[in-house]
Order: sequence, then C-alpha cells, then structure tokens
Amino acid sequence: MRLCRFNMSRLGVVEGGEVLDVTRALAVLPAPAWPPALGDPLILHLDAVRAEAARLRAGAVRHPLASVTLHNPVVAPTKVMGAPVNYQAHVDEAHADQGISFGKTSPPIAKIGLFLKASSCLAGPAEGVELPFDGRRVDHEMELGVVIGRTARDVAEADALDYVAGYTIALDMTLRGEEDRTLRKSPDGFGVVGPWLVTADEIPDPGSLDLSLSIAGVIRQASNTRKLIFSVQKLIELASRFYTLHPGDVIMTGTPEGVGPVEAGDVMTCEIAGIGRMEVPVRARTGGTNGETRP
Ligand code: MN
Repeated sequence: MRLCRFNMSRLGVVEGGEVLDVTRALAVLPAPAWPPALGDPLILHLDAVRAEAARLRAGAVRHPLASVTLHNPVVAPTKVMGAPVNYQAHVDEAHADQGISFGKTSPPIAKIGLFLKASSCLAGPAEGVELPFDGRRVDHEMELGVVIGRTARDVAEADALDYVAGYTIALDMTLRGEEDRTLRKSPDGFGVVGPWLVTADEIPDPGSLDLSLSIAGVIRQASNTRKLIFSVQKLIELASRFYTLHPGDVIMTGTPEGVGPVEAGDVMTCEIAGIGRMEVPVRARTGGTNGETRP
C-alpha cells in the first residue's frame, strides 16, 4: 500500500495516478495519552490504519495525483538517522572534493557510525527546500529512506527487515560549512521525505533499487542501493545497538556520488524504483529574522 499525507491533514492511498481519500481511517488512532507513546502516531498504529483504509478505499473520493499537495507521511519520529558515507564512490568524492580522508582499513561507516538530524527538519515535496542562509552552499543528497515499523533493540541483521514499516524517497539536504554536521543538516525542510510511504510488503528487497536525482533534465545522481556499503539490514542492526528504534523513526541510508549545490529556482526530480518520483522545489530564504516562525 502507498500511503500519503495530502492537502495538509488528509490521509490518502495512492493507486496509479489517483489519491483515494481515506482520512476517516485515522479514526482508529487512540486519543492522545500522557505520557505519549514514543513514535509517530500513524506508524504506531499502522496495521489498524491500513486495515481501515483498505475497508474504505472502494467508497473513497478520488483525486488526480497532480491536483493534491503531498507532505511528509511521517511527522513525529523520535529521531532521524543518517548514514554519513555509505557508497564507495561518494567516499572517494568526499575525499577528492572536501579532503575528507577515512583511511583504508575498514569502511568509514564502520568507524563513524550514524549521525542524527533534528526531527523538526522533516518536510514533504510540497514544502520544498528553503535555503536558510543567503549565499551559503547547500547540497542535495538523494537517498533511500527507511521507516521503522516497530520497537527495535539489538536487532540482528537477519531479522532487520521485520522491523521496517516501509520506504520513502529521502533528501538529506546539507549546508556546507564548519558547524557541526547535526546543525548543518537540521534546518527546517532539510529532511524531505515522500512522496508517500510504500509499505514494506511491496519492496521485499530494498537492496536492489535504482535511485536518481536530476535538476533541469540533467542527472546529478544515479545509482542502485545494491552499492550501499552497509545494507538497510546492517544499518538497522547498527542503529539498534546504540538506541531503541521506535515506530516512525527514519533512517536515511546514505547518498551515492554526485552530490552538488542547489540554487533558488531549481526543482529536484527524485526517483526510486518501486517507490515513485517526487519533484522538490528550492527557494530563497523568505522567513523573518526576528523570531517569526515559518508556516
Ligand atoms: Mn546523507
């Protein structure tokens, strides 16, 4: 099933070129409790929501896909994890371009592990990416996004896919500069997740997916997840050794070679086989500087 959040607060099932409005399936979500369960409410109750959505789909109002705005399907993960250098050609590129050297003995990800992005950086394709600082370089990193489906701790590689709710296209947008990576990768909108969640049953092998990013018809990044140094399974094993993974937690699995700057006016066309395609616009800073919040 392909589940999307559209027009801000509607829940949809994507079928072909249409979105079926199954918002009423959210009625199965329990009332908020204190303390709240850790995790994204939709993903915490995904099985019940899916069952209800399947029941509602026949009578659902249908919208052409092109007529709706698509937002991030996951809104409240406890954490967004990133794999820093998880394709060999990107390791080589980081070495050549930024002088970052990882040594030769073991894959750098085995040494460095994972990093975190603020959960508040999540956005969907409709929000687009706002460049937060005039003149500073921001790079696109096109990645496979993994959404955790159930509480996971010390999960073995062989069992890891049992803990996945589904997959998305993910953009790990990155501000270049001297600040700590967790800060540079966390401005609002720097974690684009979408255009919908494809449930794990539709993607039995996340280790063989073509992915690409192009701007103005020029392919910037193109690779296949079989080139991941640490597979999805291994990333879940690694992450769950350090902290408990909760439903809705997102792992951005790393970017292949070809990262490069974006400019205001660009539209990033992102595609992953088996998931779909999303267009993400880039715009100049429009927010205020005196404590105004963005919409
Ligand atoms: Mn990345």
